[in-house]
Amino acid sequence: MASTNYEYANKFCRRCNKYLGNYMTGDYYKLIRLKYCDDCRPVVQNEQKRFSKKNLHKARKPLCAALLERAIITEEENKLLRQKNKILAAEVERLYG
Ligand SMILES: [Zn+2]
Repeated sequence: MASTNYEYANKFCRRCNKYLGNYMTGDYYKLIRLKYCDDCRPVVQNEQKRFSKKNLHKARKPLCAALLERAIITEEENKLLRQKNKILAAEVERLYG
């Protein structure tokens, strides 16, 4: 299957399709992970950064609401446990005090 001119190893920019090199004849470790040309890379990175920031903000919203609800429930539980503690302490005092 492998051709002698390593055509399968040609890498092109995923954005503008510019030829980047051939990872069999060029710098294998550099080219194998190269996705974009020098012109497109900063543009794509900037897009990805903005996209992930937006998604992070979106993803955090329901998490914040869930955490707030959990905090309110925990606070209520704490209040009840403090009351129970007081009752038990009084009971211990009455029995063994
Ligand atoms: Zn490009």
